[in-house]
Amino acid sequence: MREIDVKLITEKVRELCIEANTDLGEDVLQAFDQAMAKEDSPVGIEILKELKENARIAGEEKVAMCQDTGFAVVFVELGQEVHLVGGGLREAIFEGVRQGYRDGYLRKSVCHPFKRVNTGDNTPAIIHTEIVPGEKVKITVAPKGGGSENMSRVTMLTPSEGMEGVKRFVVQRVKECGSNPCPPTIVGIGIGGTFEQAALLAKKSLLRPLGSKNPDPDLNQAEAEILTEINKLGIGPQGLGGRTTSLAVHILMMPCHIASLPLGVNIQCHAQRHKEATI
Ligand code: SF4
Repeated sequence: MREIDVKLITEKVRELCIEANTDLGEDVLQAFDQAMAKEDSPVGIEILKELKENARIAGEEKVAMCQDTGFAVVFVELGQEVHLVGGGLREAIFEGVRQGYRDGYLRKSVCHPFKRVNTGDNTPAIIHTEIVPGEKVKITVAPKGGGSENMSRVTMLTPSEGMEGVKRFVVQRVKECGSNPCPPTIVGIGIGGTFEQAALLAKKSLLRPLGSKNPDPDLNQAEAEILTEINKLGIGPQGLGGRTTSLAVHILMMPCHIASLPLGVNIQCHAQRHKEATI
């Protein structure tokens, strides 16, 4: 059994909140380059250049790449041989979020649903914990902006609708979103499980690096087909027209009930932020 003081978790979460909001991943920058090479629209190309420039400034000057610094979504893979000491995991993560959003000058975006009073420190965070073998703790912080989250949906298809039904729903969803989720987007799709699991799968699928293949050849093929259909919509970068409406489509799937075909669609904007650390 390995002892880990939760202070270490607070420190890591603090760092990851700042890093995620200021340092866009190399995979996203490469996806911008690839999109630019294929884009016909001069305005679209210009916007993609500006997104790269925005990311460069954010990284160099350590400022947020977008004013919406998001809800702090935290994935924890907790090794079952780990004994956490010095306090609770939940509070340690909340404290890391508090410190990260304060020290990184990141906007606090969390409020009471009806009174709309800001909680003041970007807590609570959304924490998804998974117990895994081993004696390590892996933490991923994925700040999620409101504009793209608002465009996300969960639906329960009938089993007979199959993959064609999934494709239809996703492409229609992206069409209806238009410019709202700050395209070019990454479309996360969760298939199977239950109502809530489909949404979680969709969100988790966004953690896969852009440009990587889906290990399931059928899903890999489906991702390519859905992306092609989405990019025929003509919404383009920032909704001003062009071929680059989405940079990628990612699917995660698991078995479902014999009577169901749950589907989650989590839309992610071009500020595709997530950083991870292992303790
Ligand atoms: S959707 Fe993304 S890019 Fe647009 S405002 Fe929100 S966080 Fe920023």
